Amino acid sequence: MRILSTLNKIIVLTSPLYTGSLLTKGLTSLLSSSSSSSLSSLSSSLYSTTLRMSYENKQTESDIADVYIVPMFTDNYGYIIVDRDTGSAAAVDPGEPQAIMNAAQTLGINIQQLWITHKHGDHSGGNEFIKSKVPGMKIYGTKHEAIPAITHELGEGDSLQLGSLKVKVLYTPCHTSGHISFFVESPSSSIAPILFPGDTLFVGGCGRFFEGTADQMCDNMRRFSELPSITKVYPAHEYTLSNYKFLASISNEICQRKYEEIQKVRDAGESTVPSTIGDEIKTNLFMKVFESQVQKLVGQDTPSKAMAELRQRKNNF
Ligand SMILES: [Zn+2]
Repeated sequence: MRILSTLNKIIVLTSPLYTGSLLTKGLTSLLSSSSSSSLSSLSSSLYSTTLRMSYENKQTESDIADVYIVPMFTDNYGYIIVDRDTGSAAAVDPGEPQAIMNAAQTLGINIQQLWITHKHGDHSGGNEFIKSKVPGMKIYGTKHEAIPAITHELGEGDSLQLGSLKVKVLYTPCHTSGHISFFVESPSSSIAPILFPGDTLFVGGCGRFFEGTADQMCDNMRRFSELPSITKVYPAHEYTLSNYKFLASISNEICQRKYEEIQKVRDAGESTVPSTIGDEIKTNLFMKVFESQVQKLVGQDTPSKAMAELRQRKNNF
């Protein structure tokens, strides 16, 4: 009873932060332990379950996989995605390799793949180091630009497998000319798929056009908006507050309420990821440039011109 009450306390304390299946699995194994289990093995299970709370997993049972958020540098996010059926795991854009490796160790996760969205060092700069530590590591990245230590080159329409998960590659050039996004498909309309758009789509924003055009970014936004609205979106940076400050300056009517919501989340020290495609379509003006009402807000009459104008204003904001 003492053990169970300790366990209940941990559940109560940690459940708001942790809704993923690993906790369920950990608890199941604890509860199924026979009453003669040694206290030391129980303590060790509790210890590891508690440690898992250090990295947020906001996924629910109705999402396709677990995703752990790993803050890196000042405002980057790396992620660890875990297939619930097989335990197979990949790290997404692990630009700060030690941060990802520490997270994997803490979580007791064995990363077998790296998914790299583009060449910038804060996304691909950890590849060599991780490969040197884990020689068999598979490194998936774009075939359109130089990705360090790459083992699997990908382009539009390619797919890869992580355990039982099928992952589709979307070629999304503009931020860099070779940028790709990873879309983890779902077999059912009631189970949320997952999008890792790198530096192409942010919560309330889009990436800078370093090597591309407004037309290309429009194509990217259109493609993302065609994904299921329940798709969970995990961008590579926490830019949300400044994005919505800007968007609210363009349209108070569409964006002010969201800006206030985001302010509360950030004031509480929480991350604003994941978003969903449905939420981005509602208030991210970069996703809404196809609407004439939004084009008019920035004095333009086509999606492409509105995209260029919005991006320019954001650059100078
Ligand atoms: Zn970048």
